Amino acid sequence: MRILVTGGAGFIGSHFVRQTLSGRYPEYAGADVVVLDKLTYAGNEANLAPVAASRRLRFVRGDICDGPLVGGLMRGTDLVVHFAAESHVDRSIAGSAEFVTTNVVGTHTLLQAATDAAVPKFVHVSTDEVYGSIDSGSWTEEEPLRPNSPYSASKASSDLLARAYHRTHGLPVCITRCSNNYGPYQFPEKLLPLFVTNLMDGIRVPLYGDGGNVRDWLHVDDHCQGIALVAQDGEPGQVYNIGGGTELTNRAFAARLLDAFGLDTSMVEQVPDRKGHDRRYSVNIDKISSRLGYAPRVSFDDGLAATIRWYKENRAWWEQLKKPNG
Ligand code: NAD
Repeated sequence: MRILVTGGAGFIGSHFVRQTLSGRYPEYAGADVVVLDKLTYAGNEANLAPVAASRRLRFVRGDICDGPLVGGLMRGTDLVVHFAAESHVDRSIAGSAEFVTTNVVGTHTLLQAATDAAVPKFVHVSTDEVYGSIDSGSWTEEEPLRPNSPYSASKASSDLLARAYHRTHGLPVCITRCSNNYGPYQFPEKLLPLFVTNLMDGIRVPLYGDGGNVRDWLHVDDHCQGIALVAQDGEPGQVYNIGGGTELTNRAFAARLLDAFGLDTSMVEQVPDRKGHDRRYSVNIDKISSRLGYAPRVSFDDGLAATIRWYKENRAWWEQLKKPNG
């Protein structure tokens, strides 16, 4: 069996690859893994160091928009797990062309190549941000898409293409929509690693607006477990939400981190709100729980403590990435 993982040198993709090659997903024990990654600023081959010696891993540096390259890699592939994306909302506000190219055109290139090669399963990894913002209650997969940032609009566009390739061409594609991931190897521009590494160095942490924006926190290991379940047993054409079950305002989240470091709120710097900042995300995970047996296993307390420990033990990994030209 051969799995093609796009974006497998990024935060979540590399976790999926490390776990797959370590035999964590019984169905894929013994599978060969081909990683296709452009190694943008967010991609890092060091994320695959723990499995670099595996004879079952092949790393291909390349762009998901490169049709001939993608076409060649699809032949003989049994499963595509598509993580590759431009993924940082703030960057999409500063400039969104790359988001449209990679997230929309790149996904289209993959879907077409997978269709041409009659790939038996394609998992498109998306985000809860495609639903927009919800004041109360939680989104089911039936909710219309109302994305508010250029990032989430580009992801929603790729979701719609994935749906269309299923409906039109019969491509066996499943879409997953997850909440805010955290865990080791996350690029330090994202909220949790930015806060943790700042606090480690006595630097104040920036809190957008009134800090009342609510996010659901999902450990990357639970997310990848959910993806593996969808890859194995997800019904083609279906969407599956994946959540972690810990909703916190950003202010409460910052307080948890300050507590962990024994610091007080003087370390928080309130900064002007992000443009178009979604107030709250919340996914209903009944579908993946009841149909595929998914449940988040990592408690936020344990996951947070382990993640902080990882950043403390791996300064060399993140320090260079935080440098202005790192
Ligand atoms: P990331 O930014 O850490 O990694 C993205 C990876 O894709 C990098 O390795 C990068 O080099 C690669 N890449 C970018 N453009 C490429 C291209 N054109 N061709 C080939 N490779 C390319 O992202 P992540 O946090 O690991 O997110 C993975 C997926 O999960 C994304 O699709 C993202 O939208 C989705 N997601 C992430 C979160 C989260 O909390 N991190 C939440 C919901 C959904």
